[in-house]
Amino acid sequence: MKLFDLTGKVAVVTGGNGGIGLGMAKGLGQAGAAVVIAGRNAEKNAAAVAELGKLDIRAVAVEHQATEEASAKALVSATTQMLGRLDILVNNAGINIRKQPQDYTLSEWNEVMTTNLTSAFMGCQAAYPAMLKTGGGKIINTGSMMSIFGASFTTPYAASKGGIVQMTRALATAWAKDNIQVNAILPGWIDTDLTRRARKDVAGLHDRVLARTPAGRWGTAEDHAGIAVFLASAASDFVTGTAIPVDGGYSVQG
Ligand code: NDP
Repeated sequence: MKLFDLTGKVAVVTGGNGGIGLGMAKGLGQAGAAVVIAGRNAEKNAAAVAELGKLDIRAVAVEHQATEEASAKALVSATTQMLGRLDILVNNAGINIRKQPQDYTLSEWNEVMTTNLTSAFMGCQAAYPAMLKTGGGKIINTGSMMSIFGASFTTPYAASKGGIVQMTRALATAWAKDNIQVNAILPGWIDTDLTRRARKDVAGLHDRVLARTPAGRWGTAEDHAGIAVFLASAASDFVTGTAIPVDGGYSVQG
């Protein structure tokens, strides 16, 4: 359907070399976009590009350090140099450090906040001039259930993901006049490297998630393809500043 067609568009996905980011990259590519995979790990970057290539998606990788402003700017320059434009930015790179609040060092707090929240802001700032040039754009920021809820072992993560939602709303109001729509997705519990580690660290987590999720399963990276296409396409041109759960009903379960 034309409303969801991304042919001719260029998308950058940070944290795109695996997990949820790669799931979104596949969706965007299958809808017609050329995709820039941004990530730290060169091997994972190359594997992701090869996987997208097998799906006939035009993809390139750029090494990206999410905590550095210069890297955000270099990512946008590399994208416009290689692919001519930038239409879609997915700010998805993220980490978690699980501890009780009293045990975090300030450096751990800063690492999580910078990787998850400040990096998204730096990405948006870097992308803005390129999006103005193409007459508009789409920004998708990855939040979390921790944008809504708290948990004893995720203080900086919850702060960063709550911040993602508020930053998304503020950017949406500022840039609507420029035809840039800014939205967030809030993944539920998704089976990725990140949560495989969490299931080792947090006793009983796997079963608690299953019991609370109305869909009766953990989510998959591929569950994020559709929402990415919607929020990146003309289908969402009057949708901005929202935070959409992708959670199998987890956040509405009483
Ligand atoms: P992964 O660990 O698979 O993905 C994390 C991605 O972030 C990797 O691609 C990683 O790249 C990248 N990344 C981390 N730190 C940096 C950095 N400093 N510079 C550049 N890239 C970096 O986990 P997920 O797919 O689960 O996570 C993706 C996003 O989804 C995160 O923002 C996470 O918080 C969020 N999320 C995940 C949920 C889940 O249940 N899995 C639930 C809610 C939200 P590299 O490997 O190259 O370092």
